[in-house]
Amino acid sequence: MNAMFPLDPGPEQMREMGEAALAYMIGFLQGQEDAPASGEGGGLEAARAFREAPPEVGGDFEPLMEMIRVAAAKAYGTTGPGYLAFIPGGGLFAATLADFLATGINRFVNLWEAAPVVAQVENNVVRWLCDLFGYPAESRGVLTSGGSMANFSAIITARRALLPDNFLSGTLYVSEQVHASVTKAASLAGFPPRSVRVVPCTSELRMDAEWLRQMVRDDRAAGRGPFLIVASAGTTNTGAVDPIAEAADVAAEEDLWLHVDAAYGGFFQLTERGRARFAGIERADSITLDPHKGMFLPYGTGSLVVRDGVRLREAHYAGAHYLQDLAGEAEIPNFSEYSAELSRDFRGLRVWFPLKLHGVSAFRDALDEKLDLARVLYEGLREVPQLELPWEPELTIVPFRMRGGDDEGSKRLLERINASARVFLSSTIVEGRFTIRACILSHRTHRDRIDECIEIVQRAAAEVAG
Ligand SMILES: *Cc1c(COP(=O)(O)O)cnc(C)c1O
Repeated sequence: MNAMFPLDPGPEQMREMGEAALAYMIGFLQGQEDAPASGEGGGLEAARAFREAPPEVGGDFEPLMEMIRVAAAKAYGTTGPGYLAFIPGGGLFAATLADFLATGINRFVNLWEAAPVVAQVENNVVRWLCDLFGYPAESRGVLTSGGSMANFSAIITARRALLPDNFLSGTLYVSEQVHASVTKAASLAGFPPRSVRVVPCTSELRMDAEWLRQMVRDDRAAGRGPFLIVASAGTTNTGAVDPIAEAADVAAEEDLWLHVDAAYGGFFQLTERGRARFAGIERADSITLDPHKGMFLPYGTGSLVVRDGVRLREAHYAGAHYLQDLAGEAEIPNFSEYSAELSRDFRGLRVWFPLKLHGVSAFRDALDEKLDLARVLYEGLREVPQLELPWEPELTIVPFRMRGGDDEGSKRLLERINASARVFLSSTIVEGRFTIRACILSHRTHRDRIDECIEIVQRAAAEVAG
């Protein structure tokens, strides 16, 4: 290290460290095919071995790479082809490079004049997201850290647009299958639990639009203030898609805001099948999307798009004297005026690099492949006599469980499946029953792994039943 200014390494040292990091990364990615999907065990013990305060005097780079190796190995194998738990993301190499370069140049993205090209690139991403849903020119959007923050900003925006300052009688409508981040966001936005009305679902686990309509009318008659419907374009439990067009009808009849939480499913809009399932989504007032799910990007990449951008700005704008040197919004938005954040990372590059390098068609093809794989898995598991599959996959989540409501059996089944280390699945509770779910959303998951998954489940189910 530079003896005088150790925080500024010289070119040789930078090259050495950078090459070590790159070599590690290439090896890591090449090892994905064979890495255990469940990760190596012993994660907590490993974590304890790394419990330490920072040293007073610095050391070498090499041991840091060892830490990364252990950190990745002693963890769920989120990047691998067998990872079908929760909602997989993957992590594209182009995004890894984008992050390296974005943090390296470290330009300020949230006020356009500070770095116009940087802000323009991010705006390209936002415009593309708006266009994907047929939003008009006055639509706006922001890149967030994830779907939770996007849902939070959406609820704040709807609240500001439709409710008075004293908003406590405001009432919002979600389905039984809504993601917890929506209820959390409502609470953070100041709404007491009674403000969140839970609409029953149909047997397909979609919000029942007739119930919704009736509840809104009853609530209004009872003096409550209905203002917001949150529909899901792909629930996290089973991938069910709420009837978006019907929810949009209710919203139009009753002057409500329609927000669609498409954090999991949104990018299937790129595919023909997805567009058909999401019919009416272009009528939503706002949409949450998670590029770190459906675009296979690293965690920390979410987004919110709002049809009437003025509404988003009204809910988030706050001026400041110390920012007076910077220009106001012009042909490029000041994203900070549309977001809860001021300083933040240049997320847009992480989305833009892969889009430029691979093209939109590569994403469309990959998502179509995932839809096909979900069908393959569904058909394959339907052949397993010990299983029941109560819901056909609308997108890429395949729920299943042991026949006859055997929760204990289903738990043992999941343990056995995951013990294979070739695939890793997670569970949930649907209609009071322990339910295993396989979610296919990694760009690294292909037919071979799904065939293997079917065999693994088949064997495990026979063992559990036998
Ligand atoms: C993942 C998910 C969220 C939360 O998004 P984060 O990016 O994890 O914050 C919200 N809604 C749905 C439907 C999701 O699948």
